[in-house]
Amino acid sequence: MLGGVRPSGERRSWWLREALAAEAVAAPYLSGWGAAPPLRGTTTADVVILGGGYTGLWTAYRLTEIAPGARIVLVEQDICGGGPSGRNGGFATGWWDDLPTLIERHGVSGAIAIARAMDEAVDSLGTWTAEHGVDAWYRMAGSISASGAPAQDGGWTEAVEACRAVGEPEAYVAMTAHEIRARVASPVLRAGAFMPGAATVQPAVLARGLRRVVLERGVEIHEGTTVTELDGERPGWLGGVGSSARRAAERRGGGSARRPVRVRTTSAAGDGQVTAGAAVVALNAWAAAWPRFGRRLVTWSSYIVLTEPIPDRLADIGWTGGEGLADARFTLHYLRTTPDGRIAIGGGGGRAGFGGRIGPAFTDDAQSTVRAAAGLRRLFPSLRDVRIEDAWGGPIDITADHLPAFASVPGRPIHYGHGYSGNGVAPSVVGGRILAALAVEASEDPALALPLVGVVPRAFPPEPFRYVGARVVREAIVRREQLEEDERPVNRILREVTHLPKRMGYHLGMD
Ligand SMILES: Cc1cc2nc3c(=O)[nH]c(=O)nc-3n(C[C@H](O)[C@H](O)[C@H](O)COP(=O)(O)OP(=O)(O)OC[C@H]3O[C@@H](n4cnc5c(N)ncnc54)[C@H](O)[C@@H]3O)c2cc1C
Repeated sequence: MLGGVRPSGERRSWWLREALAAEAVAAPYLSGWGAAPPLRGTTTADVVILGGGYTGLWTAYRLTEIAPGARIVLVEQDICGGGPSGRNGGFATGWWDDLPTLIERHGVSGAIAIARAMDEAVDSLGTWTAEHGVDAWYRMAGSISASGAPAQDGGWTEAVEACRAVGEPEAYVAMTAHEIRARVASPVLRAGAFMPGAATVQPAVLARGLRRVVLERGVEIHEGTTVTELDGERPGWLGGVGSSARRAAERRGGGSARRPVRVRTTSAAGDGQVTAGAAVVALNAWAAAWPRFGRRLVTWSSYIVLTEPIPDRLADIGWTGGEGLADARFTLHYLRTTPDGRIAIGGGGGRAGFGGRIGPAFTDDAQSTVRAAAGLRRLFPSLRDVRIEDAWGGPIDITADHLPAFASVPGRPIHYGHGYSGNGVAPSVVGGRILAALAVEASEDPALALPLVGVVPRAFPPEPFRYVGARVVREAIVRREQLEEDERPVNRILREVTHLPKRMGYHLGMD
């Protein structure tokens, strides 16, 4: 039965369908297009936000707190939460498992500051959803990373030891196979590590709840409104259209930080324009098609499949505590349960996008859903007969160091946050705080002291080299991990190809 469902394509994810249905019952006046009409004609704003996922919505929310009188306009091409914010796995995890990388990049104190900020973000999702009556199933039950093959053993050791060394031994703790099986009885999992400060949410309910709250706070949202031009630049394949002379001037600091930003849009209602004191670009993977950002992002597809409700079967394998679970592959599988006893499993190896284009391969790739379902079958052979009821995909945006970037365009009041690399649920809370503070120049805001701010990730090679390189390395990694799971030998050439990104200085690929 597993593996037999086509991805949803253009159709909404199961999460979002559930969220929209609940919303229509609870607050019909806020659902659908009625409350968020497309932009038509010209308008002005203190801050214009591009994109209505978590990053844009958290930025809007934070602005209503730190700049209560500001006029905020948010434009979204689809509906808020229609992108990955309404399609993801709903894992809100801390960053302690990334501590070694963070220490390498930002030193011990910087790394601890970032990891603690992420913990606070995970906690804040619980308090925020409770305060605002958003029933996003927030549950802090921790998250297990576990080896599913001898080659994956010990993938967590360096991070566990780093946590101990910096005085945070409880943040990420080694687990034996026996301890793991006491929580989730998979015959395959060998040993791993547990992060207690990790939660899960119903991702689309969170996104839609944010939309409701910011609308109630006076943020002007225009859905079905596509940004076609930002400050004279347009998106497109292979990096879009923009003025390289202007960008060179910006890099030299020759832009004008005071000159307003002009955003042009199009929608079913016609063309529109927003002139704003500042712009926040919260376009996630779509940013890869814009000239200013494209070279620093690789787009990648990620898919999730969802089983029918199987509460009794979950009880049989002892997985009733709500923990998140992931194997220790590079192309990791991540799994979580739902309150009605389903399993959602994602990952297993998506594909790179070409030239920043977000096409059907990001939502309609049946092979990727088969791979996700195969991961479930391998980890839990006893669930082989369980029916897959839904499957969907979306784009993720990967940076060279696998960490998000929050920064400003030199000399212009344009601020951006993207590059979550498939981990944005909790980090976008931090991102929203940073971007709001940047947009209104709240320089005393503690969020701006985080060393994440202003770090511009390394550029990737231009197309077509980026796509070809990503594709070759991806095929090699999928092949190598398959061989390793089958406990078969991996030849030296294959191994070398999987190391290539690291050898080129990117924090990507396998060791
Ligand atoms: C299948 C999948 C599973 C994932 N699982 C997890 C997980 O379990 N945990 C985790 O932390 N992260 C996960 N992620 C990543 C996470 O979903 C993202 O990092 C997060 O949603 C980013 O939020 P965002 O607001 O920056 O981007 P988005 O939600 O992508 O929002 C960007 C918005 O910009 C809009 N837009 C794009 N171009 C334009 C334009 N020209 N004009 C107007 N609007 C535009 C888009 O329609 C979109 O709504 C997953 C992602 C995917 C795809």
